[in-house]
Amino acid sequence: MTGAGEAGGERQGNGTPLVEVHDLVVHHGQLRALDGVSFQVYPGEVYAIIGANGAGKSTLLRTIAGLHHPTTGSVLFDGKDVTGLRPERRAAQGIVMVPEGRRLFESLSVEENLQVGATYARQGPWTIERVYEMFDWMRERRKQPTAQLSGGEQQTVAIGRALVANPRVLLLDELSLGLAPVVVQRIYGMLPQILATGLTILLVEQDVSQALRVASHIHCLLEGRTTLESRPADVTAEQVEAAYFGLAGAAPAGRPGEGE
Ligand code: ATP
Repeated sequence: MTGAGEAGGERQGNGTPLVEVHDLVVHHGQLRALDGVSFQVYPGEVYAIIGANGAGKSTLLRTIAGLHHPTTGSVLFDGKDVTGLRPERRAAQGIVMVPEGRRLFESLSVEENLQVGATYARQGPWTIERVYEMFDWMRERRKQPTAQLSGGEQQTVAIGRALVANPRVLLLDELSLGLAPVVVQRIYGMLPQILATGLTILLVEQDVSQALRVASHIHCLLEGRTTLESRPADVTAEQVEAAYFGLAGAAPAGRPGEGE
């Protein structure tokens, strides 16, 4: 198992981390939602943050996107400290989020939503046309208000809206929320095609089995603290369950082997 303190290991072969989070503490009022969280995401990885309701997963993703300000700690992107940058400046550098609940402009059409995503786009492979090539149905329904789409279709438009900004890291917050399992499978099935364009993915997922299927690395939070960080292949289902629920038997992150 890889400890948070030495989360590189064999991953360091991938070069400089694209995203680094150092000792992040984030409060919502009096509540300490994140309490000293650190990790690195390397280029090309699918890095999954897992944890129960209220564990701090969305807070973490939103802090990386610049939507929450940490009390202490820092966020580095491609080796540069972006902790003080506003969300739009981070987006311009390639940190782009698909928010929980999709947050589409429901009265606007599919194409208008994609145009919103393209407004401050970086140069890169993704255009609205490229999104239509990947999802043919979207071209056919481009004039339709997104309110008329199914949940899965809306989630796909939200992903398309993020892609046209040409992210370097795509932050995905709970893609599976409120969707039928078959739809969730279809949406996660798109990730290889997206990764093939050179993206890195940092996702938050409450559905642990889904996260274990797609992730190259998992990081479990419990009440704002790291309880496990590992490659999926290096942990047992029991260790993941223990980390998720805070039971004895979880291997403490940062001290490999302990608790096993
Ligand atoms: P969920 O899966 O339910 O979204 P989560 O792991 O993403 O959970 P967060 O949404 O980050 O967890 O919430 C962490 C804690 O912070 C929770 O106790 C939550 O109630 C609280 N919290 C989150 N956002 C706010 C906010 N804007 N104001 C006050 N408290 C908040």
